[in-house]
Amino acid sequence: MNADELPTLRDELETHGLWANKGLGQHFLLDLNITRRIARTAGDLAGQAVIEVGPGPGGLTRALLEAGAHVTAIEKDARFLPLLDPLIEWSGGRLRIVHGDALAADEERLLHEAPAAARIISNLPYNVGTPLLVKWLKAGAWRGDMTLMFQKEVAQRIVAKPGSDAYGRLAVLAQARCDVRLEFTVPARAFTPPPKIASAIVTLRDRADPYPHLDALERVTAAAFGQRRKMLRAALRALTPDAEDVLRAAGIEPTARAEEIDQAGFRRLADAWRQRSS
Ligand code: SAM
Repeated sequence: MNADELPTLRDELETHGLWANKGLGQHFLLDLNITRRIARTAGDLAGQAVIEVGPGPGGLTRALLEAGAHVTAIEKDARFLPLLDPLIEWSGGRLRIVHGDALAADEERLLHEAPAAARIISNLPYNVGTPLLVKWLKAGAWRGDMTLMFQKEVAQRIVAKPGSDAYGRLAVLAQARCDVRLEFTVPARAFTPPPKIASAIVTLRDRADPYPHLDALERVTAAAFGQRRKMLRAALRALTPDAEDVLRAAGIEPTARAEEIDQAGFRRLADAWRQRSS
């Protein structure tokens, strides 16, 4: 099956009289070369269950279907549903469109018939990209590897290492669950309409030893990076009056600052805080 046999995405938008709604973070990829590259980056998709958030006019959806995926696509903007309808037929039953808000979606229920964990592959709406990622990091066994487009600056925060300005809560949470990699950047001019800044594709593959207590890690990193220039003994007082004891129990100098603490250090800190507060 070849998506080149379909009407162009630009023609489809024009035929349906559709334009981008910036409030919904709509910046479309109308060039199939780019959407095919994203699908290739996700690996072999033949027969794989895939969740896509925000199909919009369906450029990435076309590439995913072409690669043989079974796609469940969640779209909030009802204006795109009639445009996506012909894709359902073209897919030969491999595309399901769900109208709704992905933040509230129960993916596990949507995927109840999927034989294995589902990949998540999306050009995410920039305004909800981070909360969606955090939701998926906490997800259960239904979720497989993720290939996601973010604003470049968010992508850099996901893959950041200790000691850098970009290192913070998002890096610690993402890397606690996944091996992460910034794959390639896509310039703003590749989108219609172009956003203000470039975007980047990040792959997040499940770690062999995922850290289980993400809620605790979220609380600890929120306090630690909430006042990132302060020493941890002061920053963590927002979390607990026993900040110094918790730090010592975790083997961390109370005078250290959040951005100096590596992944293992934050996990020890989350464990020490859990033990104190249980
Ligand atoms: N996948 C298309 C592409 O690559 O051209 C569109 C990507 S556009 C950046 C983001 C899409 O997400 C839009 O279609 C928008 O309507 C949709 N969207 C925004 N917020 C959403 C939400 N909370 N749940 C589901 N879809 C959402």
